[in-house]
Amino acid sequence: MGEKGHAAIVTVGSELTYGLRLDTNTRDIASRLSRLGYTVAEAVSVADDLHALATTLKRLCAAYPLVVTTGGLGPTHDDLTREAAAKSLDLPLERDPKLMRWLESVAARHALGKASEQVFRQAEVIQGARVIRPTIGTASGQVVPTSAGKLVLLPGPPQEMSPMLDEIFGDAERSSTRILRCAGITESDAQVAVQEVLEEHPDISLTVLASPSLVDVVLVEHGHGDDIADAAVDAAAALGSHVYASDGRSLAEVVLDDAAQLGVTIATAESCTGGMLSAALTDVPGSSRVVRGGVVTYSNELKMSLLGVRQALLEQNGAVSASVAEAMAAGAAETLGADLTLSVTGVAGPEGGTDEKPVGLVWFGVAYRGETSSFSRRLPGDRAGVRTRAVVAALDAARKALGG
Ligand code: ATP
Repeated sequence: MGEKGHAAIVTVGSELTYGLRLDTNTRDIASRLSRLGYTVAEAVSVADDLHALATTLKRLCAAYPLVVTTGGLGPTHDDLTREAAAKSLDLPLERDPKLMRWLESVAARHALGKASEQVFRQAEVIQGARVIRPTIGTASGQVVPTSAGKLVLLPGPPQEMSPMLDEIFGDAERSSTRILRCAGITESDAQVAVQEVLEEHPDISLTVLASPSLVDVVLVEHGHGDDIADAAVDAAAALGSHVYASDGRSLAEVVLDDAAQLGVTIATAESCTGGMLSAALTDVPGSSRVVRGGVVTYSNELKMSLLGVRQALLEQNGAVSASVAEAMAAGAAETLGADLTLSVTGVAGPEGGTDEKPVGLVWFGVAYRGETSSFSRRLPGDRAGVRTRAVVAALDAARKALGG
């Protein structure tokens, strides 16, 4: 059992039990609670059904010191979590005057006219609960003391739920957990490398989480000592330059931060990824300080006309080749005027593979301050997998080019 005891998660909503939405809240809450030292013993989804929800909450609140729910805190008649929780704990619901005033002002600000009676349902608080005001949306969270511990009610939309999770449970990353984010290494290589150094740190456990081409090495301290910092340093040394972040940043964020620090601008020239690399970079807020833009040159004609790739190269070597990848990167440097340009050209499949150039073969070009280089990868997976992995490989190449 985790040092903090057992916990249960209840995600509320018929959209979950009908199979219309993927329940990502359970994953996010479970991983947060596990990292904090709780053992999540049960995770259930319940339809928008007052009786079913009240029964479930009654059972779980009696059994576990921590129960966390998401969903059903909105204003409409099918948002029943407040009522169900009050019923299950045999406590009354009270209208919180501060929340009432705030909901009135929110409604006024949004020019909705006088807030309807429905909206004020969101001011109903279980007696004795602490209210967690939302930073996004209008559904407040609640932390209710129970005989076994506490019941935490959070809104359903992940972007509303997550800041409240931070507020209530703090930043798990900074306490007993360290996450080393790695690229260019397989899950099992990372596992073996870190397992070896952890022999020196018996209180630290290791979990390796893989997503396409990326690996998160998660270290959790179970003892009461303060070994986690040392263990993270040793693990990072074992993983070497594969580690791109230990502070939760994504690979794209790291590339952009490194580039910004060096005063470097970035542009992209993409074929098989069709703009996904550019999207990954521009997905990061503030990316305009670094990203100049990009072109998608899917056809050979556009590779020639927009990037100046010579026809002879395309005819002799084919579009998926070292020389074309380099010519695309160099051409983009010229046309788009960036310090660092990245190109991607490959066979994403499922059709179009040959013995010489199989599905999954991707060539990458990097032009940085006048020098151009290329490398290839044979990427596994279906079309989506190849394209996603190609984006990661290109970002990692950028990170390395920038000295990471
Ligand atoms: P609000 O009224 O502010 O939307 P709420 O607490 O009433 O908050 P719900 O109505 O239950 O939330 O859910 C709103 C939306 O949030 C759902 O349509 C869904 O897109 C998303 N959502 C709800 N629960 C989950 C979940 N467990 N995992 C991922 N998304 C979820």
